[in-house]
Amino acid sequence: MARHVVCHNCAAVNRLAAGRTAAAAKCGTCGQALFNGQPVDADAEILRRQISRSDIPVLIDVWAPWCGPCRMMAPAYAEAAKILEPEVRLAKLNSQEN
Ligand SMILES: [Zn+2]
Repeated sequence: MARHVVCHNCAAVNRLAAGRTAAAAKCGTCGQALFNGQPVDADAEILRRQISRSDIPVLIDVWAPWCGPCRMMAPAYAEAAKILEPEVRLAKLNSQEN
């Protein structure tokens, strides 16, 4: 079954044919890899698009720059993106800016 994946770079919706390896897929709009092993730095609009248009689960870290535990967790969250992509899209939302 085909899946839809939202590009981390340009937020274009890409349709992946059944059986196609998502890890190696490139965006049809901007040409970048659909997954780069890093959480998407999202604003509200990008997050809405990732959630509403992706057929894969989206894991969101809502963080704040002044929050010590948020900052401590950031490296582990980035590491998790390397492990969980392309089955899961990881995103970060700065709660101070959004
Ligand atoms: Zn793109």
